Amino acid sequence: MNYQVNEKGYYGNFGGAFIPEMLFPNVEELREKYLSIIQEKDFQLELNELLRDYVGRPSPLYYAKRLSERYNTNIYLKREDLNHTGAHKINNTLGQILLAKRLGRTRIIAETGAGQHGVATATVCALMGLKCIVYMGEVDIKRQAPNVARMKLLGAEVIPATSGSKTLKDATNEAIRDWINNPVDTYYIIGSVVGPHPYPDMVARFQSVISEEIKKQLLEKTGNENPDYVIACVGGGSNAAGAFYHFLENEKVKLIAVEAAGKGIDSGHSAATSVLGKPGIIHGSKTLLMQTSDGQIIEPYSISAGLDYPGVGPIHAHLFETGRAEFVSATDEEALKAVFLLCELEGIIPALESAHALAYLEKLKAKENEVVVINLSGRGDKDLATYIEKL
Ligand SMILES: *Cc1c(COP(=O)(O)O)cnc(C)c1O
Repeated sequence: MNYQVNEKGYYGNFGGAFIPEMLFPNVEELREKYLSIIQEKDFQLELNELLRDYVGRPSPLYYAKRLSERYNTNIYLKREDLNHTGAHKINNTLGQILLAKRLGRTRIIAETGAGQHGVATATVCALMGLKCIVYMGEVDIKRQAPNVARMKLLGAEVIPATSGSKTLKDATNEAIRDWINNPVDTYYIIGSVVGPHPYPDMVARFQSVISEEIKKQLLEKTGNENPDYVIACVGGGSNAAGAFYHFLENEKVKLIAVEAAGKGIDSGHSAATSVLGKPGIIHGSKTLLMQTSDGQIIEPYSISAGLDYPGVGPIHAHLFETGRAEFVSATDEEALKAVFLLCELEGIIPALESAHALAYLEKLKAKENEVVVINLSGRGDKDLATYIEKL
């Protein structure tokens, strides 16, 4: 079984590039050049140096002793929360901005929901001295004021999307419209393993540094580079794709993807895309997405802003369909419990998104001698307001 993208940009039945004709030249240029550029020696040198000195990689693989005792197994946390800007998203934005520079682009655009991807993009634009425009739904701008301030501090222009529900999907539409109007000087940095081919594959490659490091670190710590389980939360699916990447071909490593069940899978307020979704097209690729019987996108809901995306990257739709990864979900309440437990047992305040992966420990029946790796995708500073309400 092959879990990587094929030459046509498909993962099994999912993926492809469903784009307006006017974007074809941009996406086609990217498709032709991305692999050769990111495999160049000096691209790799520059990327690896920045990942080390700017992001702070390798991120530690931490043996969580008290959490392990609690669940009677061996739990390691991959500490993406310790990266500069507080999450895994910078791995991807750094890779894409180096690519944009080599394509000769001078103007960067991005879409953002909660603002995390917008901040990661504004950060690397400041680093490289490139102009940055971030599209964000008007509703989200009001809900996520600290991230809007961060982006502005970093020199980005934040443009409100005022159409539709004034949230992420509307911001994405605005970004695409911008790209159509500015095809020559502009590069569009997408924030997860979504969008038309080659974005999902490109983003997965940039995030694959996570599992590359896990292998080396586990070998050093346990004498075996393969864990029994890798667990990650899934919004669009980039931190999970990065954490799974180098284990995909080894079927002995069980991969567990945790989606946001919100107020419950059947409550009508959730973001459990793979379980509730049907095949459809969103943001330029064919994947599983939450939709009404006549194909209108259903607004997702989760307490964590980073997981309420109505679709899932095509790689995950394929992992779901083939059964290579197990797709489970955690509710708002279960995630919050996991936040407080990690604070209490390990002195680590996790992001709400990452807490969905931690919450699954309650249901996982791992054995005493087994090894479980959980990708701690981000830190909880951004979620403090939510946590304070629950204290
Ligand atoms: C954005 C975000 C996510 C969800 O995005 P993926 O592409 O699914 O990884 C998860 N965790 C954190 C901390 C995030 O900021």
